[in-house]
Amino acid sequence: MHEKYKKADFGCCPRVFCGGQPCLPVGTSDIPHNGSVKIYCPKCEDVYFPRCKYQSNMDGAYIGTTFPHLYLMTYPSSKPPAEVQHYVPKVFGFKLHKGTK
Ligand SMILES: [Zn+2]
Repeated sequence: MHEKYKKADFGCCPRVFCGGQPCLPVGTSDIPHNGSVKIYCPKCEDVYFPRCKYQSNMDGAYIGTTFPHLYLMTYPSSKPPAEVQHYVPKVFGFKLHKGTK
């Protein structure tokens, strides 16, 4: 799994500010037939639908909810630094007022 993660075999984060961060597979439930495999980005710490059809057809319980977090505890050097850049919505260069969201 370590080699697959390094080669980004599970896919990359679709978020622009993550810069193609390799992702890890994760299940959203440990109960069988309760959702397909998703990908977890260790940089933005969020979950996305995989682009690979083979992953999206696999039951998420096979991977489970624990795997990516246990993996990153086992290989702490694989955890990327926390993200520092956030998207700021603007209209004509001006930030939106907090009340408009
Ligand atoms: Zn990400």
